[in-house]
Amino acid sequence: MAERKKANRSKVILVAGGAGFVGSHLCTVLVRAGHRVICVDSYLTGSPANVTHLCSNPYFTAIEQDICDEVEIDEPLDQIYNLACPASPPFYQADPIHTMMTSVSGTRNLLRLAERNGALFLQASTSEVYGDPEEHPQQEDYWGHVNCTGPRACYDEGKRAAEALCFDSLRTGSVDARVARIFNTYGPCMRPNDGRIVSNFIVQALRNEPLTIYGSGEQTRSFCYVSDLVDGLIKLMNRRPNPGAPINLGNPGEFTVMELADLVLSTVETSSRVVHAPPAPDDPQRRRPDISRAKTFLKWEPKVPLAEGLSRTILWFQKSLAMERPVHRV
Ligand code: NAD
Ligand code: UDP
Repeated sequence: MAERKKANRSKVILVAGGAGFVGSHLCTVLVRAGHRVICVDSYLTGSPANVTHLCSNPYFTAIEQDICDEVEIDEPLDQIYNLACPASPPFYQADPIHTMMTSVSGTRNLLRLAERNGALFLQASTSEVYGDPEEHPQQEDYWGHVNCTGPRACYDEGKRAAEALCFDSLRTGSVDARVARIFNTYGPCMRPNDGRIVSNFIVQALRNEPLTIYGSGEQTRSFCYVSDLVDGLIKLMNRRPNPGAPINLGNPGEFTVMELADLVLSTVETSSRVVHAPPAPDDPQRRRPDISRAKTFLKWEPKVPLAEGLSRTILWFQKSLAMERPVHRV
């Protein structure tokens, strides 16, 4: 049985979306720190397999539930992290209205739960609230440039609405809510078919398939290793007093999509080359977080450089793909 360290300081923490990529890392760190963790997840893009290693721990419970339905938990909660929402463009666009409702109704349901419990609340927002930004790097006081009628709107506008719900709850004094604006994060436990760039490129390279670059490849992103992000989320949740403003969490290193492809190709032993595919509609062209606020309020900055995080992720995918059962065709 895992020991519950310093029982007087352990908390009861609900992680919505806890069986997803980031959520499963967060649950693991919180359980290891001695907290009681309740994972609520519909398994839409996550999997029970991501938290199997925690299931024998008596302080961990996984509940299958959609947060668009009222969430009732029959024990007092100290903290709620809301990470529930598909984050990969092909998946959040597959059922766009459900994506939007997850951020709006789902966040509202969890805020109600936080209010009933007097629990601290952390909303996983996104750099997508900046849309295709006209300011660079992006500071939190930039209001963004989002196309509210495009195919990304279900995600971007849903997250913007969720932020509004959080700040209204904070202003009215009903919930002590915090908002993290997360920039592109990668690492072990991403699904091979997740569809986001890092997992796509690694899986394609390991399978000796072409790396698909959407558009010119000149568009940029900033990639944060998952352990750094989880560290930032926990610091934001526990920061007293509440910063009262959204906080960017991301790695300020900025890379073009082409540079990322080259890095993957130089790290993996592969015969893959790049191919160009049509650009994704409304694809943001530049993205880099200004993390001054996180440095000041949270004393946080990422530690894992891209090359190192990528090597660790490649190793994980190598093992994970090797364990996949071969397909026998008759
Ligand atoms: P993910 O898709 O791997 O995980 C999301 C989890 O939420 C999954 O387990 C999924 O099953 C669950 N979920 C989705 N809709 C739900 C619903 N209605 N009810 C209950 N569970 C539901 O994504 P991720 O990369 O782990 O992202 C986690 C959170 O962080 C998301 O809210 C995402 O918007 C945000 N975020 C992530 C990134 C990133 O690069 N990883 C960047 C910005 C923001
Ligand atoms: N991208 C790409 N090939 C892929 C997947 C993504 O060129 O196989 C590009 C995509 O067009 C975008 C960037 O990589 O410019 C990041 O895409 P991702 O879906 O990972 O995240 P987001 O667009 O949400 O930042």
